[in-house]
Amino acid sequence: MISWDVEIAEAIRHLQALIRIPTVNPPGNEKPAAEYLADVLAAEGYDPVVLESAPGRGNVVARYRGSGEAPPLLLLSHLDVVPAEREKWERDPFGGELVDGYVWGRGALDMKFATAMQLETMLLLARQGLPLKRDVIFAATADEEAGGRYGIGYLIDHHPEKIRAEYALTEFGGFPLNVGGKRIYLCQTAEKGICWVRMRARGAPGHGSVPHQDNAVVKLAEAVAKLGRATLPFHHTDTVAGMVEGMAAALGGLRGTVLRGILNPTLSSLILRRAIRDPQQVRYFHALLHNTVSPTVLRAGSKTNVIPSEAEAELDGRILPGQDLNSFLAEVRAVVGDGLEFEPILVAPPVATDHRTPLFAAMAEGLRRRDPEAVAVLPMMVTGGTDAKHLARAGIPCYGFTPVQLPPEMNFMQMIHGHNERVPVDGLAFGVRVLYEVVVEFCQK
Ligand SMILES: [Zn+2]
Repeated sequence: MISWDVEIAEAIRHLQALIRIPTVNPPGNEKPAAEYLADVLAAEGYDPVVLESAPGRGNVVARYRGSGEAPPLLLLSHLDVVPAEREKWERDPFGGELVDGYVWGRGALDMKFATAMQLETMLLLARQGLPLKRDVIFAATADEEAGGRYGIGYLIDHHPEKIRAEYALTEFGGFPLNVGGKRIYLCQTAEKGICWVRMRARGAPGHGSVPHQDNAVVKLAEAVAKLGRATLPFHHTDTVAGMVEGMAAALGGLRGTVLRGILNPTLSSLILRRAIRDPQQVRYFHALLHNTVSPTVLRAGSKTNVIPSEAEAELDGRILPGQDLNSFLAEVRAVVGDGLEFEPILVAPPVATDHRTPLFAAMAEGLRRRDPEAVAVLPMMVTGGTDAKHLARAGIPCYGFTPVQLPPEMNFMQMIHGHNERVPVDGLAFGVRVLYEVVVEFCQK
């Protein structure tokens, strides 16, 4: 028998302790947090290692041994957090205070609560001594908020044997969303790729007092303006289809039919423009159905009376699963026309994991067991990038699964990186149980 009250109280204490260890990235300085976790794991009989990727950048890895009949499952979290503007918070962002049923602090949701839940899962596995067919690997890493080079990226490059697994569970997912008064859970199965490119226009140099038609600044400005107004072509993806179909089914009726219509290439734009009212939702759905491009940096000229011979813009391009740099550039060229040069700055491929797997089914079942009113557990795509990109590079498919319940007014994705980040104790209690049960269920089979 597991005494859940005791386990949950323990997970909360560990969460508070983790929030009180400042790991703002930059500089990160995750080592004290990694050492804290190593101490807790060692006290329970584990043999954790703290691996330093750079001075102060700590990563901790521990392993629960199964029989080895099936490959390992990796529980991955990151220890670093984004900065907090202390004066804009109602509570100390690094105080880890427990007030009115919430644990407050930077990282409460992104993602120290998940570290605490994954830790509790490890502690429980050791205490229960359950025979599993798979190893369960715990890895709490540095640097996710700055690209993961000193965290999971470092482990993949330098200690791949320590984290090799059939699947990884990490952010984002397992949180509820209110859709037309019904509760669904979203679990990340895909994320968009990154195509940051420099776009350059060339022209004839000249004196500003004698304008001419071959001005690089004007050519670039025209291209930027076109991109700003353009909609790149519609693309269908498995993840977004699964997500929208599921949401439409939950909504039902006319609203469901309308929502489903955004998957129809000919109706999609019209519905997004006319039928969905919340502009934030419109932008999100648009980003899930198209490659996108945001011009973000402009550079040209150095003197008011000199027409420069070149002008450049940096473009933040994001591409859907199935797309790559070339297909993205072809779409951009179709908008801006000929005569511009493109040079990649940073390219990271999109990530997509099939959601029709035994692990996803176990996640869905685990959520429904503890929340029978939930109407659906759906795959989700995020528009930004997470450590899943590194895992994909290592061939480890991953799901966003850090189960938590939140009150209806709290939107998980809006709360992270915001002021007053906090996690409800009840929601965490739910997550601790669901995560443990899913891990046991999946690893015993
Ligand atoms: Zn995160």
